[in-house]
Amino acid sequence: MFKPISLLLTGLLAAGPLLAQTEPNKSPATKDADKPPTVKEPAKKPADQSPPPAPGVSPAIAPNTSTDASAKPQVDKNPPPLDPKNMDTSVKPADDFYLFANGGWIKSNPVPPEFSRWASFNELAEKNNDALHEIADKASGGAAPKDSAKKPKADKTSSADVQKVGDFYASGMNESAVDTAKAAPLEEQFKKIDAMKDRKDVLKMIGQFHSMGLHAFFFFISGQDDKDSTKIIAQAYQGGLGLPDRDYYTKEGPDSQKIRDQYVEHVTKMLTLAGAPADRAAADAKKIMALETSLAKPARTRVELRDPQKNYNKMKQADLQALMPDFNWSDYLKELKLTNPGDINVGQPDFFKAANEVFKTTAVEDWKPYLRWHLIHDMAPTLSSDFVNENFRFYEATLRGTKQIKPRWKRVVTKTDDELGEALGKLYVAEKFPPEAKARALEMVNNLKDALADRIKTLDWMDQPTKDQALKKLAAFQVKIGYPDKWRDYSALKIDRTSYAQNVLRADVFEVDRLMKKIGKPVDRAEWGMTPPTVNAYYNPNMNEIVFPAGILQPPFFDPKADDAVNYGGMGAVIGHEMTHGFDDQGRQYDAVGNLRDWWSKASADEYDKRRKVVVAQYSAAEPIAGMHINGELTQGENIADIGGVKLAFTALQKAIAKKGPQPKIDGFTPEQRFFLGFAQIWRNNQRDEDLKLRLNTDPHSPGRFRTIGPLSNFVEFQKAFDIPDSSPMIRPANERVNIW
Ligand SMILES: [Zn+2]
Repeated sequence: MFKPISLLLTGLLAAGPLLAQTEPNKSPATKDADKPPTVKEPAKKPADQSPPPAPGVSPAIAPNTSTDASAKPQVDKNPPPLDPKNMDTSVKPADDFYLFANGGWIKSNPVPPEFSRWASFNELAEKNNDALHEIADKASGGAAPKDSAKKPKADKTSSADVQKVGDFYASGMNESAVDTAKAAPLEEQFKKIDAMKDRKDVLKMIGQFHSMGLHAFFFFISGQDDKDSTKIIAQAYQGGLGLPDRDYYTKEGPDSQKIRDQYVEHVTKMLTLAGAPADRAAADAKKIMALETSLAKPARTRVELRDPQKNYNKMKQADLQALMPDFNWSDYLKELKLTNPGDINVGQPDFFKAANEVFKTTAVEDWKPYLRWHLIHDMAPTLSSDFVNENFRFYEATLRGTKQIKPRWKRVVTKTDDELGEALGKLYVAEKFPPEAKARALEMVNNLKDALADRIKTLDWMDQPTKDQALKKLAAFQVKIGYPDKWRDYSALKIDRTSYAQNVLRADVFEVDRLMKKIGKPVDRAEWGMTPPTVNAYYNPNMNEIVFPAGILQPPFFDPKADDAVNYGGMGAVIGHEMTHGFDDQGRQYDAVGNLRDWWSKASADEYDKRRKVVVAQYSAAEPIAGMHINGELTQGENIADIGGVKLAFTALQKAIAKKGPQPKIDGFTPEQRFFLGFAQIWRNNQRDEDLKLRLNTDPHSPGRFRTIGPLSNFVEFQKAFDIPDSSPMIRPANERVNIW
C-alpha cells in the first residue's frame, strides 16, 4: 500500500523500511522492522521494506526496569501553542532560525536514555502511549494508571476488541511466564528446520516462514498493481537481510567493517542463547553473514528503489519460474495457499536471478542456521529477557546509541498497536478523539487543496495540458482523517493469555492470510495503512489518497486553542507535505486513479527535472555530521514535499486571514512570524550521533534542522516575515532558489 516509505511524513525510524512506520515516536518492534509490508503493515509495498531495519529497536527489556520509570523530560501539561521557553531569542532569526525557534527546547530536552532521538513526534507519541497504556491496562482488567473513573464508551467498542486487546497486553506483561518459556515458543519451528533434508525442504520452510510473516530470503506479499490500481496482485521483492540496508554489507572502510563484526558477534550470541554451543554458533554466524552478503550484493540500493518503473516487472508464474529455474514456485506458493496466484510483480528481477544461484549453491546445512537466526531475530522481542536485551544491545544501543531499553509496558503497547492496531485504535478514538478535530482538519485540508490548485494554475514552468492533468489528479485526492470508517474484523484471530509469542505468531499468520486472500479481489479503498494513534501521516500513490491518523491531530501539530497561524505552520505544513507527495519525483509518475502512467508533456517533465535536480544539489551539500552528507537523491521526494508543503500552508493561511480580516500580533509576533515559528517547532529534535548516521544511510527524510531551514531558505515570504537581509545564511540568493510547487 503505501509505497515507499518516503511518502510518510516522518520516516521511519530510520532504519529500515519498515521502520518506516514512524518516526520518532515508536520504535519499531523487531519483527516489524523488517517485515515486508506484509505483516503488520498491510499496506506497505515491499519495496520499502527491503532492508530490514533495525529490528529490535524498542523491545528489549531493560535490565532493571520492571518499573515504568520512563526517562522522559518533564513536560508542561498545558503549554501555550508557541512557548517562549522553547525559543532562544539570543540568536537572531537571520543567523540561525532553527535555533531562534527551538534553541530553548533543544537545551532543555536532551535525548532521554531510552531514545536515540527526541523530537516533537516523540513527545506526542509518548502522550499517546500513556493513553494506550491506560486503555490496554483497563482492557486487561488491571488497575488503570489514571483517570480510572473514565470508562471506554461501550457503544463505540465491542467486547471482542476489549478481550483481544486485554489478553494480548496481559500476555505481554506476564514477564515471569515469558522469561520461564525462554525460546520454547519457537521449538516447533526449530524442529522443522533441523529436520530439513534437501533443498525441497528448505524451499518449503521458506514458504512457511512467509506464511507466518517471518523474514527470510525475499519478501512476498500482495499489493495494488501499479499499472492497474483496481487490482491486487502478488508482489515479490528483494529481502533476506538482518542489517538495516544492503549497503551495510558492501561498503568499504573500517566503520562498516566494525559494524559487520559486531553483527556477527550479535548473531553468535543469539544462536547461543537459543542453545547452540559457542564455537558452533560462531561458525554459523559467519555462514549467515556470507549468505546475507550474497543477497545484499545483487539487491538494489535505496536510491535505485525510488524508480517505480524499474520496480514494475509483472510476469506470469511461468516467467518467474524461468528466472529462478532451481526454485520451484509451485511448491513455494502452496505453502501460502496460493494455487493460482495470477500475475506476479517481481520488483527486482536481477535480485531474484541471483537468489536462484544462492538457493542452488547453498548447502542445506547452511540454510539451517540462516533460518534459525531469522526466526530468533524476528521473534526476539517476544522471548525471555536474555533475547530481548541482546536484541536491544545490538539494534538499539550499538546501531543507534540508545542508552536504556524502554519499560516493558511501552514495548508491549507498541506491539499491541502493531498486531491489533485497529482494535486498540478503536478503543483509543472512542476515548480520545473529538469529532470536532476531524471537522477542523478537514477544513484545513480543503483550504490547502485550494492553495495547491491555485498554485498549479499559475505555474510558469508547466504547460496547459499537463496542468489539466495535475488538477484532475488533485481533485481526485481521497482524504482520510482520524480513523477508518470501517474497522478491521479480528474475529477469526485467537488471542489468549497463554503465551505472548504465540499471540504474536497467530496475529502474523492472520495478517498474512488476510493479505494473500486479497489477491484477485477488488481493492478496498476504505482500508488504512496506519493505526489511529500513530503520530505520522502518509500519501499513497496507488490510492491517490492522503491520510492523517488521529494521533497527529494534536499539539504541537494541531492545537484547537491555537491561532490559525500556528496551526497552519504545523498541521497545515504536514497536510501540504502529504499533498506535495502526490507530485514529488515518485508521486508525479502516478495519475488520478493511482496508475503508474506518464501524464506529463515532454517539455513540462524536462522543466520538472531541472528543478528536481536543484533540490538534490541543495540538500546534498549539507553535512549534518562531519564526513557525512545528506543523500540528496534518496531524500529528494521528502525534501520536495517539505519545500512545497510549507508554501502551500502559507498560502492557505493567507486565505484564512483574508476571510477573517487582519489578525493581531500575539506575544509580539505577527501571524506570518508565528506561522514560521509553528513550522520550525514541529521539526525540533535532539539526536544521538549513531542514530543520525544510521538515518543518513537509510532514511528518506532529512534531519529536522534541514527540514526547517531547507524549505525556508527557498521561500521569500519567510525572508519578508523576519526582515532577513540577503546576506543571511538562512536565505539563498534569488537565482539559486527552487520553486516547484
Ligand atoms: Zn513525506
